[in-house]
Amino acid sequence: MNLPKMNEAKKRTKNEVKILYDDYNSLNISNLGKDKKYLILTYGCQMNEHDSEYISGIMEDIGYEKTMDMDLADVIIVNTCAIRENAHNKAEGMLGRIKHLKETKEDVIVIFCGCMAQEEGLVNKIKEYKWLDIICGTHNYHKIPEYLYEYMNKGKVCEVYSIEGNVIENLPVNRDSKYTAWVNIQYGCDKFCTYCIVPYTRGKQRSRKSEDIIDEVRELYNNGYSEVTLLGQNVNAYGKDFLNNYDFADLLSEVASTGIPRIRFVTSHPWDFTDKMIEVISKCDNIMPYIHLPIQSGSDRILKLMGRKYTIKEYLEIVKKLRAKIPNVSITTDIIVGFPGETEEDFEKTLDIVNKVKYDLAYTFIFSPREGTPAAKMEDKVSMAEKKERLAKLNELINKYALLANEKTLGKTYDVLILGESDKKGKYMGYTPNMKLVNIKCDKELVGKIVPVKITDVKTWSLDGEIANEK
Ligand code: SAM
Ligand code: SF4
Repeated sequence: MNLPKMNEAKKRTKNEVKILYDDYNSLNISNLGKDKKYLILTYGCQMNEHDSEYISGIMEDIGYEKTMDMDLADVIIVNTCAIRENAHNKAEGMLGRIKHLKETKEDVIVIFCGCMAQEEGLVNKIKEYKWLDIICGTHNYHKIPEYLYEYMNKGKVCEVYSIEGNVIENLPVNRDSKYTAWVNIQYGCDKFCTYCIVPYTRGKQRSRKSEDIIDEVRELYNNGYSEVTLLGQNVNAYGKDFLNNYDFADLLSEVASTGIPRIRFVTSHPWDFTDKMIEVISKCDNIMPYIHLPIQSGSDRILKLMGRKYTIKEYLEIVKKLRAKIPNVSITTDIIVGFPGETEEDFEKTLDIVNKVKYDLAYTFIFSPREGTPAAKMEDKVSMAEKKERLAKLNELINKYALLANEKTLGKTYDVLILGESDKKGKYMGYTPNMKLVNIKCDKELVGKIVPVKITDVKTWSLDGEIANEK
């Protein structure tokens, strides 16, 4: 049994990152899941969604078949998120349901993985749960075939590593979409923002080799994909762990030269945003004019307490350059309210910045103390009621600008990559280059294609459109 240790997880050394091309399934396990089914429940960010695509690929590689029905599953995998308390609560609620299921269906195998499995306090508690069969972390989910085999032969497995981590290549993957794909370009994070658990749960920043990324993008393009989203906690810190000067702008430029029609990337950190990047984005038509640039707070004082390493002045400078160089760029952000010590005046500064930048959209959160992070120990005098009030006020302003940004699209025509059925009955959905969701009445045959769409109506969160003949 290997248990997570927060003290180990925060260590950073200069040790070289290993890129492992053949660490998957060294025991050549196959057919373990013949005639059996698996179900994956995924919580949290895009990184977790993409990890689940790999876990799904691994399960199918050893013979399991996917099901969405918990009652039919022989293996249930819970891929968890630790970023905020509510993500925790959702996963814990689901565990309650699974525990109940195990009372009547004893032989179902339950795997608990993801960021929550990297948390010391939590794992010390759940390792005692008799009905939880396999616990593994973010560094070793590619070992699930071995863990299943071990469980079937010896019983319960708990293997979590609080290490800086390696880069594991050549895993089977079962992607959710046939048209748009996530591509990891780096793992982990070295920023250690004081509120954030990610550097502890995902290890140090490790960039993948550019050759491996480009090969993956080329293969996706050859297989009919029209869009890739380069994925990492700090995509624009890509390459900072290399010994040469190859950086994110160089990578973007190379990815663009593959010719794949659409390239996106999340998440950028203002600290690592360079003029060179802006230059590359402005020159390459296939890099989409959409930048997610988390600000977190409008107050320099709070940004300092958060350890964000930029000032509002510097942030606004980036926004100015982006808007000057990339016409029609959409900018979205993340904001935390109620960080320990946030005064009414600090919060007003956050509202000010929203009024200045006029974001296309923002993801807003109430600060959630995460055990083991510095901010969790900071004095927090603001009541939850006050925090909720601030959040509501902020959201109202965000919604106002989201609608205003959408209104500007009315009557215009955009290329939309149609991805599939919309949850609006009888319609299909897709995204504009600016990442605006459009619902369209169109032929099913257009799914997977990039087509011109005229915007006929706008709402705060989405647009309605119709197929246009030309722009
Ligand atoms: N690496 C990205 C960055 O630095 O912007 C995103 C990381 S995180 C998955 C997504 C967002 O969750 C963050 O931008 C932040 O706004 C929010 N977040 C992280 N930790 C939080 C916490 N303890 N409480 C509330 N929100 C948090
Ligand atoms: Fe968390 Fe900050 Fe790293 Fe983003 S940059 S993952 S918020 S520590």
